[in-house]
Amino acid sequence: MRITLHGAAGGEVTGSAYLVRTKTASVLLDFGMFQGASRVEKLNALPDDEGLRGLDAVVLTHAHLDHCGRLPLLPRVGFAGPVYATPATIDLAELILRDSAHVQKADAERAARRREHGVRRVKPPPEPLYSQEDVEKIRPQFRALPYDQSVEVAEGVAVRAVDAGHMLGSASIEMTVREEGRTRVVVFSGDLGPRGAPIHRDPVPFRRADAVFLESTYGDRDHRSLHDTVAEAREVIAKAVAERGKMLMPVFAVGRPQLILYLLAGEFLRGAIPPFPIYMDSPMAIEATRIYERHTELFDEEAVAMYNSGELRANLGTVQYCRTADESRALNDREGPMLIMAGAGMCTAGRILHHLRHNLGRPGTRVLVVGYQAEGSLGRLLVDGRKTVSIFGEKIPVTASVHTLGGFSGHAGQSDLLNWFASVAPSNPRVFLTHGEERARKPLARLIAVRHGISPELPAIGQVIDLD
Ligand code: ZN
Repeated sequence: MRITLHGAAGGEVTGSAYLVRTKTASVLLDFGMFQGASRVEKLNALPDDEGLRGLDAVVLTHAHLDHCGRLPLLPRVGFAGPVYATPATIDLAELILRDSAHVQKADAERAARRREHGVRRVKPPPEPLYSQEDVEKIRPQFRALPYDQSVEVAEGVAVRAVDAGHMLGSASIEMTVREEGRTRVVVFSGDLGPRGAPIHRDPVPFRRADAVFLESTYGDRDHRSLHDTVAEAREVIAKAVAERGKMLMPVFAVGRPQLILYLLAGEFLRGAIPPFPIYMDSPMAIEATRIYERHTELFDEEAVAMYNSGELRANLGTVQYCRTADESRALNDREGPMLIMAGAGMCTAGRILHHLRHNLGRPGTRVLVVGYQAEGSLGRLLVDGRKTVSIFGEKIPVTASVHTLGGFSGHAGQSDLLNWFASVAPSNPRVFLTHGEERARKPLARLIAVRHGISPELPAIGQVIDLD
């Protein structure tokens, strides 16, 4: 069997895609979008690989765009086969892909308008990779992959999904390949979550594999503990509520908003913070929250208990959902205390920009940063303490305070990655570290070599791995 890496390798964190080929089958594991710098986004295309033309099936680990974002390109090479994913991943992937098509169209239109208005230095507008129609074309091809059941997805290729603890529906995949009388087991970690994270169950490790593809996003460090982060957030929020301040939280629609609501419900229940108005100002986050409610079977014990007892709903009575732009604008005229959660997560677009423009110059405003802020984004400028920022071409003074709450990550830190690997290490697999920058995967490789006597390989994009 042969595995070709069409993304998330060579130090890139995005674009996950593994093409697995045997004499009888061709299966793609994840087909994610490259995200970030334009140099990286240029890689977003159908790889020139004849294996894609004879593709039998796709298997998804989870719904993040960097794992499913190139799926709508596949019908262009005649792919009409099944796309296997857990039911929650199917729901979330549909939401995320539709949003992606929408954002790509809006970006292209905005760039075209700016060029028309004579902004010459604007590069030619990026062509959208795909449209809403392309997303609709792939949707009927989704097939439910239940957790912990072996499903034959192509001749001689069976997969089993187990909890990865990274986001709702996320899975690690064990692939059992039978070819010419031999059986080999290849494990794909997918993105792994931290142990003990709220709502999600812990990642399930494996006992035996011939090869392991392990993500290494945070291979070089551990996060601040969730416990410490929650304590810090509690202090900031309690003070803001007492002072009737406005809190602005830039969020991506899926994951963080639901986690924050869940944690706040716990704080209200214990009386640590008095209930106060919370606005979920994002139609996509509202839809994602509905999807979480449809899949409470995936919650961990504590979250299930809180949901089933009605305590979750009872303690979230102050949450209001803003679907329309008018509802969003109306928040400008409302007095604090309040928390507004809005996208985009790195303040690069979306409703959060309007709230920042309106409130950054007001003392008493707090910006709560709970997600990663890439170099060059407005979110990063705020984190770095800029005193003036530019929003919609307008100079805005920053008198608001900015609080970085770093422990809400959905990713396993170095210790959790090593713990997960320790369980499969005795079977002495070949190990490939993917989905991490070089500065993250090299230290992880060294630690695995020291502890287990296995030297992990650090593959490049396009690399072909023969497993015999
Ligand atoms: Zn992910």
